[in-house]
Amino acid sequence: MARIFDKTWQRTKLCGQFTEEDAGHEVRANGWVRARRDLGGIIFIEIWDWTGPIQIVFNPEAGEIHEQAARLRNEYCVAVKGRMRIRPEGTDNPELKTGTIEIVASDFLVMSKAKPLPFEVGDETDNVDENLRLKYRYLDMRRDKMQFNLRTRAKINAFTREYLGERNFVELETPMLTKATPEGARDYLVPSRVNQGCFYALPQSPQLFKQILMISGFDRYYQIARCFRDEDLRADRQPEFTQVDIEMSYIVEDDIMELIEGYMKGLFKLVRGVDIPTPFVRMPYWEAMDRFGSDKPDLRVKLELCDLAEAFRDAGFEPFRKILEAGGVVRGLRLPGGAALSRKEIMDLENRAIKLGTSGLANFLYKDGGLKGPLIKFLKPEDIEKVKELGKMQPDDALFIVANESRQKACEILGTLRLELGKAREDLFDNSPDNWKFLWVTDFPLFEWSVEEKRWEAMHHPFTSPALNSEKPFDEDPANALARAYDCVLNGNEVGGGSIRIHDPEVQARLFKCLGITPEDAKRRFGFFLDALSYGTPPHGGLALGVDRLVMLLCGGNSIRDVMAFPKTQKAQCLMSGAPDAVEQERLDELAISVVKDEE
Ligand code: ASP
Repeated sequence: MARIFDKTWQRTKLCGQFTEEDAGHEVRANGWVRARRDLGGIIFIEIWDWTGPIQIVFNPEAGEIHEQAARLRNEYCVAVKGRMRIRPEGTDNPELKTGTIEIVASDFLVMSKAKPLPFEVGDETDNVDENLRLKYRYLDMRRDKMQFNLRTRAKINAFTREYLGERNFVELETPMLTKATPEGARDYLVPSRVNQGCFYALPQSPQLFKQILMISGFDRYYQIARCFRDEDLRADRQPEFTQVDIEMSYIVEDDIMELIEGYMKGLFKLVRGVDIPTPFVRMPYWEAMDRFGSDKPDLRVKLELCDLAEAFRDAGFEPFRKILEAGGVVRGLRLPGGAALSRKEIMDLENRAIKLGTSGLANFLYKDGGLKGPLIKFLKPEDIEKVKELGKMQPDDALFIVANESRQKACEILGTLRLELGKAREDLFDNSPDNWKFLWVTDFPLFEWSVEEKRWEAMHHPFTSPALNSEKPFDEDPANALARAYDCVLNGNEVGGGSIRIHDPEVQARLFKCLGITPEDAKRRFGFFLDALSYGTPPHGGLALGVDRLVMLLCGGNSIRDVMAFPKTQKAQCLMSGAPDAVEQERLDELAISVVKDEE
């Protein structure tokens, strides 16, 4: 009779859960073959499941099963029966949880074989070409690190449901086949068969639906929501990603921030076992830009920018003076001990700054009791003193300077150098695994100027409420208008972002006008939402947390692909399934779609 997997072969425990207490007992284990060794006729294999490996011994006396064991290859899926024993003295493996025990096989079943492997499955798989790992994702995931990452992800999702559920948040699903909502990226479109020539958009976020849920009386909503953005992919982006999407009624900024601080506190305790201090620092957008050159500053890096305008406003160096007169800025970055950099290193830095989009990088070096540098000859002693003072310069420091018409640009360039220079030095960057620096960045500009479109665009999205305390109404001074938007930043990563929304249709209409969206256009694109807004909308706001990035940080990884089961490549392809793929002509005909091939 054929030997098949039935109850009598079912594991008595998971491989990694056997302990010395099982010694002397008949046990059964199921899993994948790893690491076969043959020592003087005795065959050892490890079999593995997600809890770890257990060692199996086949003695030559075992006859037929010993012969079978000799033919085993890695990743065969097997079941073993046998007696557990303590390993003979001197054969312990202290690196394994089960390193002091082994099963002496008495019977054995190969449930299925594996073809020759594209790569060895184990800790070393990380070094395999990622495209090969993605093609054979099922093998890639059959190992400790990927199991840990994805199981941590599941644990985080479970925590999210528990935390929000306890606080009366209702988990509601919003449609995947929907209408375009403006988050600023391109939509993935799905053709409709029944309504030929019409398309659904996959949601970039559930933004409008969650706001409508507030209007519907679900005053606390959340969803672990899949979102889709058809962008040319930057290094660590995915076309589909997951957000914890939250919305609440009758709230102000503090309510959301406190909710998220409590969430992060619980999450980091659960996953990392650490107590993160709350409340988080709150920092207005322009303070973050001026001090750290970023709207998502990494506070682990101990370097700050400075404003040098006062040293150059009346000084003899004309290019800087002109930039200041034209409303631009002169900003600096002090590098402690930087006077020791070589000429080549300083030139490389300047080239880096130029590549980032400015015309040059001036420098002062504090050496031999005074400041040195190409600009010294243009400056009076009192201006040099001012540079020293504003730059907080100490002996042996370097100060790198960017002058630019745009405050934002100057800050961003120095912000990039700040990260690169700081992260390269242990004394300036505390990279220990549980150094978590959270902050809220607040008071974002409401608009940003689109050079290509020559018009204002919403910096967050066009449903974000303008700040209440501005001197002028937002539509009279769009350049300086601020938004009731906030980002949750962790170690230089934006892990969440949201805003208090507009709940007054009249304000919403004025905002669309600023963005150059005509009433007809607004009606066509989000008429349903504007209609809803005019039926008694409570004040409301929310945020979305980026699950993939958060899981990655909590797992200590550096790629979001390693915390997604089936990620796509930079060309938005799934190498395992082969998506996206061509479809049969018939299917296209049904959809009334014809594909025009680009000759090139
Ligand atoms: N919908 C926004 C986003 O996806 C988040 C929010 O404002 O709640 O970034």
